[in-house]
Amino acid sequence: MKLGNMLRDALRALLHKPVTVRYLTRAGEMVSVPERYRGKIVYDKEACIGCLLCIRTCPSGVITTTEEKKVSFNISRCVFCAQCAEICPTDAIRLGSDFEIVTSEKEDLIVQ
Ligand code: SF4
Ligand code: SF4
Repeated sequence: MKLGNMLRDALRALLHKPVTVRYLTRAGEMVSVPERYRGKIVYDKEACIGCLLCIRTCPSGVITTTEEKKVSFNISRCVFCAQCAEICPTDAIRLGSDFEIVTSEKEDLIVQ
């Protein structure tokens, strides 16, 4: 990279607002996420009719059937594409605002 280009990019970065947001506000509170944020899956088991369309559409193999003819999500493999939520005929799936999903317990990554 040429020096001129580097200086131009550095100046541009200094003059623009950051594209990221602080994890916590200066007051130590959690930042609010945008309305359309795609966070941890929220599943409404009561609304689910067991049609399995979500399983067919998921590109990552996250969703499996359960003995009750409902579904279960292993979100450790989820790419948060929202295809499952879009195709669900009963709005039983939505991508919530929770982004703190790091855990040492595998069971915490199962949504059912
Ligand atoms: S958000 Fe995408 S990757 Fe995650 S469960 Fe739904 S379809 Fe699969
Ligand atoms: S698409 Fe919706 S209704 Fe159908 S199995 Fe999946 S969650 Fe249930």
